[in-house]
Amino acid sequence: VKRVYLLHEGNKDMKLLLGGKGANLCEMAKLSLPVPPAFVITTETCLEYFKEGTGNLPAALNYEAELKVLEDDTGKKFGDPSNPLLVSVRSGAPASMPGMMDTVLNLGLNDDIVQGIIDSTGNERFAYDTYRRFLNMYSDVVMNLDKEPFEEVITEIKKKKGVKLDLEMEAHDWKEVVDRFKKLNPNVPTDPREQLRGAVLAVFRSWNNDRAIRYRSYNGIPDEWGTAVSVQAMAYGNMNDGCGTGVAFSRNPSTGENKFFGEFLPNAAGEDVVAGIRTPQPLEEMAEKWPEVYAELYKYQEQLEKYYGDMQDIEFTVENGRLYMLQCRNGKRTAKASVKIAVDMVKEGTLTQSEALLRIPANQMDFFLHPTLDPSADKTLIGEGLPASPGAATGKIVFTPDDAEAMANIGEDVILVRKETTPEDIHGMKSAQGVLTALGGMTSHAAVVARGMGKCCVSGCTAADVDIAGKSLKLDGLELKEHDIITIDGSTGEVYLGTVDRRSAAEDEDFQTVLKWADEARTLKVLTNADTPEQAATARSLGAQGIGLCRSEHMFFDPERISAIRAMIVSEEKEERIRHLDTMAVFQREDIKGILKEMDGLPVTVRLLDPPLHEFLPHSIEDVQALADTVGKPLSVVQDRVAQLQEVNPMLGFRGCRLSVVYPEITEMQARAVAAAAAANKKAGLDPKPEIMVPVVSTAKELRLIVPRIQAAVADELEKAGVKLDIPIGTMMELPRACQTADQVVGTDGVEFMSFGTNDLTQSVWGFSRDDAIKFIGRYQEQGLLDFDPFARIDEEGVGGLIRTALEKARAKQPDTKVGICGEHGGEPDSVQFFHSLKFDYVSCSPFRVPIARISAGQAAA
Ligand code: ADP
Ligand code: MG
Ligand code: MG
Repeated sequence: VKRVYLLHEGNKDMKLLLGGKGANLCEMAKLSLPVPPAFVITTETCLEYFKEGTGNLPAALNYEAELKVLEDDTGKKFGDPSNPLLVSVRSGAPASMPGMMDTVLNLGLNDDIVQGIIDSTGNERFAYDTYRRFLNMYSDVVMNLDKEPFEEVITEIKKKKGVKLDLEMEAHDWKEVVDRFKKLNPNVPTDPREQLRGAVLAVFRSWNNDRAIRYRSYNGIPDEWGTAVSVQAMAYGNMNDGCGTGVAFSRNPSTGENKFFGEFLPNAAGEDVVAGIRTPQPLEEMAEKWPEVYAELYKYQEQLEKYYGDMQDIEFTVENGRLYMLQCRNGKRTAKASVKIAVDMVKEGTLTQSEALLRIPANQMDFFLHPTLDPSADKTLIGEGLPASPGAATGKIVFTPDDAEAMANIGEDVILVRKETTPEDIHGMKSAQGVLTALGGMTSHAAVVARGMGKCCVSGCTAADVDIAGKSLKLDGLELKEHDIITIDGSTGEVYLGTVDRRSAAEDEDFQTVLKWADEARTLKVLTNADTPEQAATARSLGAQGIGLCRSEHMFFDPERISAIRAMIVSEEKEERIRHLDTMAVFQREDIKGILKEMDGLPVTVRLLDPPLHEFLPHSIEDVQALADTVGKPLSVVQDRVAQLQEVNPMLGFRGCRLSVVYPEITEMQARAVAAAAAANKKAGLDPKPEIMVPVVSTAKELRLIVPRIQAAVADELEKAGVKLDIPIGTMMELPRACQTADQVVGTDGVEFMSFGTNDLTQSVWGFSRDDAIKFIGRYQEQGLLDFDPFARIDEEGVGGLIRTALEKARAKQPDTKVGICGEHGGEPDSVQFFHSLKFDYVSCSPFRVPIARISAGQAAA
């Protein structure tokens, strides 16, 4: 087995083996770009390491020959004080996981070698600066020592000296730092080869650090991949003012504008830009300072973008006026940028329409449905930073990721305020509506991660004085405390006091273009789950082609209506129940009329009453008393009835079609309401297309009992109105038994369609309670028992397997059975792909997921 590759032995298509970073380094070298020589240890070797479990490098791994090539190419020698080769040891997974794993830079130093560098270059500051960086990183990454004391040393010496920036530190200051670092950790090995082994091991191990694991589970990256390790000759950005380092994007990753964009830091090393140590300068300044280097970089970014056919994110370092390319990859971008870039690239002829459609991160498209700041709103500007990730958010200030998470869990909108963010802050960023940082540029961790998550972010708000421990943010002469409200605009970088009015970005022209592409490509219809005329109108404006799930019980949640349904539920006799049902019928009919009108000409699937009855019951004694008054019965009688209706396990209890079995009059009322509403609309010249759906079916016998009743009620109602209408009847498939016997469920007694209720189906297949699973699903994911939350994304194997069975049986019996899905999964891109592959007729999702489902369905067909 080949475990080690030189750059000329690999290429960009070898990501799985060489990691994204390694594969792209190979490709850049192949294109004759100036890449420092390197070799790459394969991801398979990393897996071998984990499998052997000895804690040592796999015995068969040997990179001496390749190290020798690096020495020959650079004319330097690893471990030779008179002309030392230093290397970086870089992690790199098959999928980009920015900042999640570890890298050690400037490896190959010890006291003698540092002295050698001083003797040969005369550049003492460079030698000690490089040494302190190495000691710091090695102690942290390889030896797992706490970073804090190391940072304190630097802070202390800066304070003593009265300076703020690394740049202001002189040779003897860095020497003092080095001396104190060596006291903090006297155990850094002095043998460069031992250092190298240690660093390679550390990079392997970093595949399984907590933040990498969390990142993978959040981004659906398999745990089985492993990381590659690139060992590369160092390029020095920290020698003098003729050096520097930077990050560039071939287009603006925030707005998508087709303009070369980036930041650099003179006299600094690579990690300084990403870490947000100083706020970097825009590339335009580099263009003035070093026009030739800039021109060269400009040429490469153009070349790389053309070659990869996608926007590139590039790391580079300039050593004494010489440019080195250290990394390229398809750049992370905001939702807005991804859409603009895709549309522009089609216009430029770089991509075809379907290629461009496939580039759209469907999941992030809800950005366009979330508001941006209303330009005419009243607002008080209190600060300005960089527009790191667009969108606007209002929320209460929190200062730690844990607080953000805790507040989000109780439903609060928060803005996470940090000096800078690190990968440990991810869960807080995920919970927050937006992120504000004092330090860091457009390419800082906060910015990159926020863009990836589609979260709005303002970074580099340097006027902000953030005191995490004291939970205070000083800005514009104000002192804001935890839970004070601010608004941030990640599209402009502005920070405002309090709440600012926002509006939707759905009209964005490029976004509309992408939706049009998707609609042209897709074969799946996209319907919506809507229970009110307002929701129906919203969904229709977002492109819904009908309603796949209209939950009839949701029409009774209003305070004035709930008393009607409560009275019906506590009724003891049929006559009494029918009386209350008559009251309900009026609401029901009027609502359905309104919904049918909003969706005129499109199907509206009304589901019969489903939830456990006790969900509607009053809990407080006052409410029970009020109910007793309404129905004119003694309190104790109503209390008894309420107690009777309590269930131990309501989700598996008296719900769905079971209600129809026991109380046929409820179903009759609902069927009549649907028919009457449709008839009225029809008479008014409209084109109503209602359908009726029976929930929680487990045996076809339930349908044989219920469907004829629905048909009779509908026929009677239509006849009374003198209207001819076809009202198809179908069933929800949300219990394993119904799926398993789908050939009995459809095709008899006029059951024309089936709609998979994947929320309940997931619950009943896994035996996970939807309402309680949140307590353990996270742990399941952390420990690799689940790659994702099956309530969010369809479990293709288990739940999906059962769906396949149901489809086969149903289609064998009645080939033209209309098939849809109406769970949360209907708006989740991977699940939509799956339903497309099973040739579903439609997915139905909540109104604001409709555009996402349209794009996903288009991608599935593209
Ligand atoms: P990450 O995946 O976190 O970006 P990298 O391996 O890219 O980690 O390295 C971290 C930083 O160190 C980057 O800024 C990179 O450009 C810089 N770096 C890596 N290798 C070298 C090298 N051989 N010479 C100079 N800088 C380097
Ligand atoms: Mg990098
Ligand atoms: Mg259900």
